[in-house]
Amino acid sequence: MKLETQISSLKGVGSRKTEALAEIGIFTRADLLEHFPRRYLDRSTVTFTTDLRKDVNVTVVGKVSGTQMRRGRKRSYFEMVVADERGFLKCRWFNGAHWIQKRFKKGDIVAVSGKVDFYGGFQMVHPDFDILSEAGANPINTGIIVPLYPSGQKLQSAGLDSRGFRRLLRPLMAGIESGLEEFLPRPVLVEFKLMGIGEAIRDIHFPQDMDSLKQARYRLKFNELFFMQLLLAIRRQSQAETVKQNRFDGYGEYLSSQYEKLPFELTRAQKRVMNEIWEDLRSAHPMNRLLQGDVGSGKTVISLLGAAIAAGNGYQTAIMAPTEILAEQHYKNALKFFEGTPIRVVLLTGSQTAAQKRDLRKALKEGYYQVAIGTHALIQGKVHFKNLQFVVIDEQHRFGVLQRGELLEKAAEADVLVMTATPIPRTLSMTLFGDLAVSVIDELPAGRQKIITRKVDVHTLPKVHQFIGDEIKAGRQAFVVYPLIEESEKIDLEAATLGYEKFKTQFKDFQVALLHGRMSAGEKDTIMQAFSRNEIQLLVSTTVIEVGIDIPNATVMLIENAERFGLAQLHQLRGRIGRGQHRGVCVLVHRSMSPESLDRLNIMVKTLDGFKIAEEDLRLRGAGDIFGTRQSGLPALKIANILYDGEILKMARKAAFALVQKDPHLRQGIHAQIRHIILDRYAEYSELAGIG
Ligand code: ADP
Ligand code: MG
Repeated sequence: MKLETQISSLKGVGSRKTEALAEIGIFTRADLLEHFPRRYLDRSTVTFTTDLRKDVNVTVVGKVSGTQMRRGRKRSYFEMVVADERGFLKCRWFNGAHWIQKRFKKGDIVAVSGKVDFYGGFQMVHPDFDILSEAGANPINTGIIVPLYPSGQKLQSAGLDSRGFRRLLRPLMAGIESGLEEFLPRPVLVEFKLMGIGEAIRDIHFPQDMDSLKQARYRLKFNELFFMQLLLAIRRQSQAETVKQNRFDGYGEYLSSQYEKLPFELTRAQKRVMNEIWEDLRSAHPMNRLLQGDVGSGKTVISLLGAAIAAGNGYQTAIMAPTEILAEQHYKNALKFFEGTPIRVVLLTGSQTAAQKRDLRKALKEGYYQVAIGTHALIQGKVHFKNLQFVVIDEQHRFGVLQRGELLEKAAEADVLVMTATPIPRTLSMTLFGDLAVSVIDELPAGRQKIITRKVDVHTLPKVHQFIGDEIKAGRQAFVVYPLIEESEKIDLEAATLGYEKFKTQFKDFQVALLHGRMSAGEKDTIMQAFSRNEIQLLVSTTVIEVGIDIPNATVMLIENAERFGLAQLHQLRGRIGRGQHRGVCVLVHRSMSPESLDRLNIMVKTLDGFKIAEEDLRLRGAGDIFGTRQSGLPALKIANILYDGEILKMARKAAFALVQKDPHLRQGIHAQIRHIILDRYAEYSELAGIG
């Protein structure tokens, strides 16, 4: 029985099931085998009806002892009584009652999961449910571990609830038991104590006991992370095999003169990073380096020093920022930095006319400009360079792995420096940037005063407003930030507008402006520019203020409804102030008094360490939320979780990188099979990996 065979060839799979399965990406038998249970029930995870407590989330397993449509005050609802051997629990559905009613029959053994409520007796409203078996014995009592599969309404309507999946999987499993071929080399299995693949697939669906289930999960998580890391390892390998045509003979004639002219001494961390970059530049292979450094740690000057080396060797530099405002800021910095040299800097923006763009592009292609600055558009489409060799991508977390691939098409041998202020926890950067070498600026320039962060409730607001007034009168500038989250966009915009009106009347003698996402790029830009020239003293804004904007005179930031922001986002926002000689103060205003949100805000009060904050944020909110891992350009994970499986990730990375080091093109013996899996299962990523 072949695993690539279409699912419809399985007994009992008709057109309805085929269609429902296709919707969740299951087309072949192999896909079905990889539809892993979402959780398992056994005695240790199931609660007796006699042990229920209000507001606690539990799963109860029992027999349906009664079902009934009942008339409620407004509309009818469905009520089902589940009895275990000690007592009973009422479940109620107010929505979709008729659809639910059809799912259950008296005597079915079911699992219901949800929060327990008390309403004249214990009850669950709209619990998640699974039918474990039709009339029969409670499997939990016989010591069986029951897997529950992810399943939605459509699947359930097609008979594919957990029970339905088990019915399909059992014969499939029996048919292939001996047929799942191991593809990991023996030494890898031994070193990382991995269960065989056939066993793992069997035990993940039909676990004998908790221990074998644990081993099966470990093996399958390892698998997934191993292939992901393998893609990165192969990619890194293929870059390491590339030999640059453009050599760097030395620092060139601009580095030391411009270095001498800097108004400050580089921090030790900046010097170390500069050396790392220099080593990469002078090597025979293209640089692929991630530069991490907290907000304000001074990454810009690093990119400019790099550009000076490139120019000194006769090569062009491209610096890309995620937005036009940031590009413009880089442009100004670069102009100032190269003052007094023959180096010509150009800014390419979307607002230039077609004719202007054409001229600038022509000049770039002819090598008239040595440094080009712009947004992502800089490497797209019609822009060509004469001899682009140094590429800087600022605030990288907005560019995924795939976009970097696109960049490499333009300049396959370019030395690439990716810079980010987003502190990325180690496990995440091993994934998102797993093919890059990493440099860290872990020190802020001397003399920077620590930002003070306070968390206050609304009653303290008048005092805060007074403080803002004092700072403005003393010549400083302030931000007031309102959350803006899509679903409630209208209300949020109103809140910001209202706040703006209030501040405007309160601070009549000063310029107050409002900035929000519905404005055109041009409008936003005008306001930001005016703010950076201190023509505006108080900027009321939704979250659109740019990551990376550098306004040293801004000292106060008031963040409204701070509990609605992610911690990493708060940290980014806070990094906009206290960047000059004056001390910064960040005030987090909260309206929620829930202990969780107060705990989160306390983390902000206690630490300025972006890495600590990122780890906490990751722990509290999950990886997807912060970095959009789904858009990272890497395969989605089915069973492993970057958040919790950091240890397995490290193992898998070690194994994958060792394998590629030993056999770069995966041609020896069993490795060929791994190569085959990559080309087959990860076809869309194999180009990324460079073995297409
Ligand atoms: P980021 O790493 O967030 O991009 P920037 O490069 O914008 O930070 O630097 C923040 C500010 O610190 C800038 O005004 C820059 O001129 C200044 N700066 C950079 N390096 C140093 C240093 N070694 N000593 C003092 N100031 C520095
Ligand atoms: Mg920056």
